[in-house]
Amino acid sequence: MQSKLPNVGTTIFTTMSQLALEHGAINLSQGFPNFMPDQQLIKLAKEAVSSQKNQYAPLAGLPGLRQKLVEKIQRLHNKCYDWESEITITAGATQAIFTAISALVHPKDEVIVFKPAYDCYEPAVELFGGKVRQVQLTAPDYAIPWEKVKDVVSEKTKLIIINTPHNPSGYVWTKDDFKALKAVVKNTSAYILSDEVYEYMVFDGKRHISICEDEELADRSIITCSFGKTYHVTGWKLGYAVAAKPIMAEFRKVHQYNVFCVNHPLQYALSQLLEDSSHYLQLSDFYQNKRDYFLKLVKDSKFNFLPTQGTYFQMADYTGISDLPDTEFCLELIKKHKLAAIPISVFNQKNLQQGFIRFCFAKTDETLEKAAEIINKL
Ligand code: PMP
Ligand code: GLN
Repeated sequence: MQSKLPNVGTTIFTTMSQLALEHGAINLSQGFPNFMPDQQLIKLAKEAVSSQKNQYAPLAGLPGLRQKLVEKIQRLHNKCYDWESEITITAGATQAIFTAISALVHPKDEVIVFKPAYDCYEPAVELFGGKVRQVQLTAPDYAIPWEKVKDVVSEKTKLIIINTPHNPSGYVWTKDDFKALKAVVKNTSAYILSDEVYEYMVFDGKRHISICEDEELADRSIITCSFGKTYHVTGWKLGYAVAAKPIMAEFRKVHQYNVFCVNHPLQYALSQLLEDSSHYLQLSDFYQNKRDYFLKLVKDSKFNFLPTQGTYFQMADYTGISDLPDTEFCLELIKKHKLAAIPISVFNQKNLQQGFIRFCFAKTDETLEKAAEIINKL
């Protein structure tokens, strides 16, 4: 059979989580919390499935949920979106990203992706005939190399995919980054897909700047977000996309045929919980405490850690421990030492080795302590 994605295998997240299970390893690889979500959310979900909320939701999502989301965006980012025509609830950010790419990318269009890149962007671009132009970021800070970006952006650029806070490096875009982006796209018709799933996990007094804070950029952008990350419910697979009306209209043409609508009772539960902003407003402190606790536990290890600026991932330079390529090092870590992490090279241009692996610290203190015991012995 002729594959449409001949170079694609099983994702590293599935591979590593499966290996972790097989080898009884502590799993700091795939990004997901191993603690319970808020009990109030569980209660609301139970109520929703026990009531009249079990049939199709409206195509674009529950009006109450969309209204609360646009209010929240207005409060946090001072940008006014229309809840009826500019926001759609999706099956996680993954579906929002896939749908956005399928709606915007035509054959031969160029799409700019920053490497290391989250792994669902490029296969979608390829499926729709687009051509990926990669821009490699460099360790240790993974800041955006604007000179290189200027070289690859042209009139052929249809889409630029950005991700702030960035998975896996934790890099958080600054005002200057957005200024530079605005200058780069000025005389092009490029759209921007801004993947902001870790919007509430930003540390050390930094603030998440959403692309929608700039009016001109907002007009050409589609933003993707994830309830999974924000409410510790990655298994619910719910998220949303926000964009100016003409972009959202194209997005919905695809959305109505790839899912039509998404989980109704859980949208209801989330819309009730959104009444209380404390859940998402406390998240940065919550994860900063986890990051700091983890880094304190491993401070004497032979890994080199540069505290992550955002997300629930911590990069670790392992070159003081091993000369192995990162994937082999991770395999050894799982099999011999019973600890699972993610090698960064799989997200890099030509699998570039940078000497880094990624740990997820969205874990109970007990799990972090057990992981640290292993890390400190290496
Ligand atoms: N983008 C990035 C950068 C991610 O890390 C993830 C999470 N795995 C997603 C998108 C997908 O989010 P969701 O689980 O809501 O589909
Ligand atoms: N986003 C998660 C991570 O980066 C994984 C999600 C998935 O397994 N697809 O680890």
